[in-house]
Amino acid sequence: MRLVADADLRPLNSFRVAARARWLLELHAPGEFSRLRDEARLAGLPWLVVGGGSNLLFVDDYPGVVVRPLFRGREWHEDGDAWRLRVGAGESWHETVRFCVEAGRGGLENLSLIPGTVGAAPVQNIGAYGVELSDLLHAVEALEMKSGKRHRFAVDACGFAYRHSRFKAEPGRWLILAVELRLPKRWRPRLDYPGVAEALAGAEPTPRAVSDAICAIRRRKLPDPAALGNAGSFFQNPLVTAADYARLRAAHPGMPGYPAGAGRVKLSAAWLIERCGWRGRREGDAGVSAEHALVLVNHGRASGAGLWALARRIRDSVAARFGVELEPEPRVIPDQ
Ligand SMILES: Cc1cc2nc3c(=O)[nH]c(=O)nc-3n(C[C@H](O)[C@H](O)[C@H](O)COP(=O)(O)OP(=O)(O)OC[C@H]3O[C@@H](n4cnc5c(N)ncnc54)[C@H](O)[C@@H]3O)c2cc1C
Repeated sequence: MRLVADADLRPLNSFRVAARARWLLELHAPGEFSRLRDEARLAGLPWLVVGGGSNLLFVDDYPGVVVRPLFRGREWHEDGDAWRLRVGAGESWHETVRFCVEAGRGGLENLSLIPGTVGAAPVQNIGAYGVELSDLLHAVEALEMKSGKRHRFAVDACGFAYRHSRFKAEPGRWLILAVELRLPKRWRPRLDYPGVAEALAGAEPTPRAVSDAICAIRRRKLPDPAALGNAGSFFQNPLVTAADYARLRAAHPGMPGYPAGAGRVKLSAAWLIERCGWRGRREGDAGVSAEHALVLVNHGRASGAGLWALARRIRDSVAARFGVELEPEPRVIPDQ
């Protein structure tokens, strides 16, 4: 355990914006949290859990305690027709995917190369290339930070939806300790998402080959945060009713829409932003990626406030032109 006063948060956010936390608490075991929780110097302060900081935008300094769970460990269990894997919250998500595919156990490969930690994965129910975490999750172990009580949530109790979960709906309440994944022994590759089958280039679709193909696609399409600060997609794809989509498409021919169940249609936030002329634009060091209109980037010295001001201008222009409200995907701190 390590407690640091006035901590630098720049290495802890993939936008690489400058920000400081009043306290930074690094935890190596869940029990350490309960010992620290009631310390007088931390009393009454707000808590923020940070994993890899790849889905956060600090608009200002954080006036409370940033908690970093560094819990490690991966254990396999056999469970009838599936393999179960329990993983500590502090493990890297991508390394966990590779750990599975190297063992020849498929399921997670479409979620390759998503940055961040295992503990954060359930928070926004990470998804990519036609697969969501909730398709493969068995349970989440979490600590209620206020009471110090441990809970185990089966997948159906996690409130999962597109980029959403109960953990996202209750910010500051839960510290996720570990995640249990369930990988069916009878594996079927998921190659239906556009571009995935082509990227395999005729190779036999083993879990590792699919993971390699997904990594190749992502490296081509997305800026590497190590080279150019970003948090992946900055806005969620908006969900609208089928009737609203029909009306929008009549007014804007060619607007893409994808069936999203329950009579709803998912719009492409990237398409809406691009049509408003934002792709590749730059305001000081805050900009929109030239490769991907959905990705905001820090060209060097952008502040969190500058990036957030740009995001709001994008949101306002999409609302004015299409009447569609964009929601940010990363958590914006302080909560907006
Ligand atoms: C280049 C790039 C590509 C990306 N691509 C995708 C993608 O394809 N699909 C996708 O879904 N996301 C994507 N993301 C977003 C991001 O990688 C994921 O949301 C990831 O799960 C965030 O992990 P993290 O550890 O960095 O979380 P952080 O950014 O540290 O935290 C994110 C949220 O989770 C909470 N949190 C973190 N850890 C815990 C914990 N142990 N307990 C409780 N709450 C916690 C935080 O409080 C915060 O609200 C991308 C990001 C980047 C930079």
